[in-house]
Amino acid sequence: MTKEFVYEGKAIYFLGKAYSLKIREGGNGKRVRAERLPDCFLVQGSRLTKERIKAALEDWYIYNARIRFKNRCAHYAPLIGVTYHDIRIKNQKSRWGSCSGQGNLNFNWKLIMAPEEVLDYLVVHELCHRKHMNHSKEFWALVASILPDYKKQERWLRDNENKVLIW
Ligand SMILES: [Zn+2]
Repeated sequence: MTKEFVYEGKAIYFLGKAYSLKIREGGNGKRVRAERLPDCFLVQGSRLTKERIKAALEDWYIYNARIRFKNRCAHYAPLIGVTYHDIRIKNQKSRWGSCSGQGNLNFNWKLIMAPEEVLDYLVVHELCHRKHMNHSKEFWALVASILPDYKKQERWLRDNENKVLIW
């Protein structure tokens, strides 16, 4: 039997697009699996609970966030003229990203729910900190040289913080 519903009244977002969530009970495996289909997310497994569904979706998000952030950092770093050490995908309540003095870039996996341009902006923002470890005029000029409309993405983050950060 397949039940279909929108998780806790919210759509499931991936790169800014809203998906419905389909739940399929059954199967003999103990694992709960999440996958993205063209028009919905499908979570299937046995003994499904809200927590297990959420955990499976989170695993899927984190796995795909890692791939996406790695690709986008590799794309933008040479354009900005910087290098980095490691990319870490974090579960942070209040931060979108950060850049350590050692060159490690940390990103909040929940950004994978945001539109692509917003995710790219965070990548560029943290990479620009490899040149300027502050939010000086020079820092913002460097961001703008790569993404002239970055303020639009900043605004999106401010306006949608409560939708995306709460999960
Ligand atoms: Zn910053």
